[in-house]
Amino acid sequence: MRLISHFIDGVAVSEPGRLGDVFAPTTGEVQAQVELAEVSMLERAVASARAAQPEWAATNPQRRARVMFAFKSLIEAHMDELAELLASEHGKVVSDARGDIQRGLEVVEFACGVPHLMKGEYTEGAGPGIDVYSLRQPLGIAAGITPFNFPAMIPLWMSSVAIACGNAFILKPSERDPSVPVRLAELAIEAGLPKGILNVVHGDKVIVDAICDHKDIKAVSFVGSSDIANYVYQRAAAAGKRAQCMGGAKNHGIVLPDADLDQTVADILGAAYGSAGERCMALPVVVPVGEQTANALRERLVAEIEKLKVGISTDPDAHYGPVVTAQHKARIEGYIQLAIDEGSELVIDGRGFALQGYEEGYFLAPTLLDRVTPEMKSYQEEIFGPVLQIVRANSFDEAIGLASKHQYGNGVALFTRNGDAARQFAATVEVGMVGINVPIPVPVAYHSFGGWKRSGFGDMDQYGMDGIRFYTRTKKVTQRWPSGGSVVDQSFVIPTMK
Ligand code: NAD
Repeated sequence: MRLISHFIDGVAVSEPGRLGDVFAPTTGEVQAQVELAEVSMLERAVASARAAQPEWAATNPQRRARVMFAFKSLIEAHMDELAELLASEHGKVVSDARGDIQRGLEVVEFACGVPHLMKGEYTEGAGPGIDVYSLRQPLGIAAGITPFNFPAMIPLWMSSVAIACGNAFILKPSERDPSVPVRLAELAIEAGLPKGILNVVHGDKVIVDAICDHKDIKAVSFVGSSDIANYVYQRAAAAGKRAQCMGGAKNHGIVLPDADLDQTVADILGAAYGSAGERCMALPVVVPVGEQTANALRERLVAEIEKLKVGISTDPDAHYGPVVTAQHKARIEGYIQLAIDEGSELVIDGRGFALQGYEEGYFLAPTLLDRVTPEMKSYQEEIFGPVLQIVRANSFDEAIGLASKHQYGNGVALFTRNGDAARQFAATVEVGMVGINVPIPVPVAYHSFGGWKRSGFGDMDQYGMDGIRFYTRTKKVTQRWPSGGSVVDQSFVIPTMK
């Protein structure tokens, strides 16, 4: 059985102890085992990071950027290998796994601009003979805890910005698909990153708690489900750390009567069922405004859903693959049953689907539910599977209200041809990321990513300028140089600019 070890100081590190199973979602078999660290392994990772970080921070930013450029080239050169490895543990189709890596790579590209991004500010003559400047300095050691659903993109969101800024970074990836994060760390070292600047420690709650509590780790970045995001946020903050903790989602796609229905249906299908719905920016809820729009939309959705192909991740014709674990599959099936019991209408049932030759794989065909209402628990909670719920609204205001009042506020999309309505929507909706005729509005790498309400805890978003701010602290310097002559007034009054 393949063993997935920790990666510390540029080498694989093992310790006898607890192991976790890594499944092949396509076949249901255990394909590898991952080491689950105890606190002692975190101590090793921190010691290695502590030893390496000062020299890395003192390396000029242009040289650090060159390592990021080399890292980018290596990821590109290894794209196929990484995508296949990722798909084999996650289950998403290989083309989508490439997208997962590509979106992370784009943050590496952003981090290549670190010499410019870290520049401070300067004011000459802020007072008589006084200049004021600010500079950005790395924090020291930062850590990231990541979810299973984007095992390349999310580790790269965090680590590339943290490292480029001169920090050491300890990554605790999801224990369900841990191989790609290790491979990325190996490539970073191959690119010229000093050993110890990017360490990977596998594990579960034991190690997450230890990261939150460790006095030498100055910042924690988390992405995962909301209860754990909130828990990590509070525990890390209680230990005096910076924390940015992204949580779950239930994104709405609102369809106005004037929308281009063909395009809207194509967009909703990919956003609802792509990656088996296991995306925090998926669109699991569609809100048509008016009965006529609802009926037309439903009719087209049904016709198109029937054409979708569920398959193994290496099938180039498959639209999506299996979900991540048997346990997660059972959880999704539970939500479908709950939705039926709560009174919604089951239009297409994706349960009971078996792929010939892969009967033990964790496959679910697409499910469509109509006449879902806001009181239903199946609407209020995140399902995170290939399940699309139709919530019918009578007015645009009612539709906006649904997205705004929902406990999650990650993404939302509006489908319309009406610019005025779109503008009003973007201005008022209580959600962090808005798409106008864009179903999955994940901001590009030079903007920042973050949801509102229970989708994001903390005050800074991931990557973009917020990423630079999160992984640096600013020092503010006020300076005056003696120019000779008489002593300036001694004052017992706080200096002012009267
Ligand atoms: P998860 O919360 O189960 O796990 C995330 C991380 O937390 C993992 O590294 C895991 O090991 C760790 N963890 C799990 N249980 C823990 C516990 N009790 N104490 C401490 N740490 C624990 O999430 P997941 O199932 O891997 O990922 C799916 C979730 O992530 C979904 O809710 C999805 O919406 C969310 N997500 C959010 C974003 C975003 O940016 N908002 C992006 C991707 C995924």
